[in-house]
Amino acid sequence: MASDEFDIIRRYFNAGTLAFPSAEVALGIGDDCALLRPQSGMELAMSMDLLQESVHFPSAADPFLLGKRSLLVNLSDLAAMGARPLCFTLGLCLPRVDADWLEGFSRGLAEVARANGCPLVGGDMSGTQAGATTICIQVQGEVPAGQALRRDGAKPGDLVFVTGTLGDAAAGLGVLQGRLGESLSAARREALLEAFYVPESRIGAGLRLRGLASACIDLSDGLASDLLHVLNASGVGAQIDLQALPLSSALQAAVPTREQQDLAVSGGDDYELCFTAPSARQQAVQEALTDAGIPVSCIGRITAQKGLVWQQSGSPVSRQWQGYRHFVAAEGER
Ligand code: ADP
Ligand code: MG
Repeated sequence: MASDEFDIIRRYFNAGTLAFPSAEVALGIGDDCALLRPQSGMELAMSMDLLQESVHFPSAADPFLLGKRSLLVNLSDLAAMGARPLCFTLGLCLPRVDADWLEGFSRGLAEVARANGCPLVGGDMSGTQAGATTICIQVQGEVPAGQALRRDGAKPGDLVFVTGTLGDAAAGLGVLQGRLGESLSAARREALLEAFYVPESRIGAGLRLRGLASACIDLSDGLASDLLHVLNASGVGAQIDLQALPLSSALQAAVPTREQQDLAVSGGDDYELCFTAPSARQQAVQEALTDAGIPVSCIGRITAQKGLVWQQSGSPVSRQWQGYRHFVAAEGER
């Protein structure tokens, strides 16, 4: 790869569509470092996500969709902090130079970069002996000092909210792997696949929740495990109403009710925001998000009593989701 490394960077990554100019970037791709202009009064938010072939995405993944997804899952961490994107860097390990793959992947990255005002400013590239494509992205964002949405601010009595719908991405992965959805319409299969590959950017939601939310996290591993991170960091518990979980019509058509709940609670990859806010701010939260066309649902309440209690029709349910393995229980049911 060494001989054409610079050619690849120039052709696919240092293109105006992806490495576009931005007020905060003084110098982009091409020198030993990129140079940023930090704004006074701002904190720099940084996050990195690593995606490995066969572990995080199937080998046959469409490179354009994979490019979009790679940047979107990183931007999701900025959204969860209430940060505004500034730029990103890209590390790539490639088993071979595949022009079609590079073209599709960089085009997917560019589409998301442009839509979120987040240009590519640098990176590194290498061949690999291991044979698996590895994509490493680091995003940088900014948030006014002291205003970041952290995990440790939830208080007893706060309400728990989520954006969008839950479980679609896990169902989409099931469709992709041929495990479910054979009887679904083409449009519904497409909707679930899209949810897996192209999670919504919730950057706008994060910005609007500054000053309103008391704690926030993005849902990458599933509500059951991600909400626990908020509860543990804040030293509180929660009661969550299973019937309040927002489910898409595609998910409801794809699997039976019980499995819909399983996917919504423990399916990963939704990249929606889960946040808490004082009940006095419920209306302000709903207005701030719905005015911007962002769906939001109140799903429960923070308690002083530690632990996560799932409720149905006002009573606790005994089902536990930790350690739940997708589809294992469902096969016997269907
Ligand atoms: P160095 O050897 O000094 O680390 P490189 O020769 O690896 O620099 O890279 C040259 C320039 O190209 C640098 O500005 C680097 O940030 C950029 N670059 C390298 N790989 C990528 C990539 N995959 N995407 C974007 N920029 C890249
Ligand atoms: Mg280098």
